[in-house]
Amino acid sequence: MPTRSDSNIEAYVGNILASAPKAGASELEAWRKPEKSFRRLIKRDYVRDVRRNLSYRNLLELLAVANEILPKLNREPLDVMPIKQQAQLASDLGLHFKAAPRKGTEGLALRGFYVNKLQQVLKRPLIYVNTAHHPVAVSTTFCHELGHHIATGILRSREQKVHLFFDADYSDHLDDPGELVADVMVSLAGYPRPVADKIFSESGGLGLVASTKTLTDEAFAEIHAHLKQVYGLDLMAGISARQRLNYLSGMIHYAKLRWALLAEYDV
Ligand SMILES: [Zn+2]
Repeated sequence: MPTRSDSNIEAYVGNILASAPKAGASELEAWRKPEKSFRRLIKRDYVRDVRRNLSYRNLLELLAVANEILPKLNREPLDVMPIKQQAQLASDLGLHFKAAPRKGTEGLALRGFYVNKLQQVLKRPLIYVNTAHHPVAVSTTFCHELGHHIATGILRSREQKVHLFFDADYSDHLDDPGELVADVMVSLAGYPRPVADKIFSESGGLGLVASTKTLTDEAFAEIHAHLKQVYGLDLMAGISARQRLNYLSGMIHYAKLRWALLAEYDV
């Protein structure tokens, strides 16, 4: 039987979902027209932003904390986590967890969210994942939100806010240290060191002055092959053109971020 606190959490999640279109108006706009942010993301040099918003020390701290939760992280590609496993992990970490589909008009634009513990409202932090997405995307969302949870400790952030995760405007995440840490979790999960070495060693940018701008065609083909082989993810199959471009943005974003971590921090 649901307890009173369960129904409070339900109501709380419902309120956040209801206010998401307003809170994420600019991200929704980008989601509707992904071409512009896609072009920006392709050209952006990730090294500069990583250096500015994530110190080497913070990165090592993230790896240490994350490895305790996910021992395979950055050693092997992380398996897709079924919802049951996500719920267990969240509960082990003392988090509220809610997984539910959100379709509706533009419902798919939202991937999930993380909320720090809020006095009087939430006694524990909360992760929500939108299960209307492909299981690989849902698992990725969970990783991102887990990254927020770790970031709160690493960045000693006392900021009390709802971190909404939209499937849009990925390169904007680079401007926000909390979002960057959350995304680094995803990059390390999808592209562990041995895979990153294989994909990016030929791509250059690993010299004295590292820079990561445009992925080579070879690197792009390797990334696509890796995602298909490990996760069975074929971006060309069965989804709308807009959703495909938004997924593709995510794929390139996480790959470029992984490249920047390798190029700048040798991680
Ligand atoms: Zn986020």
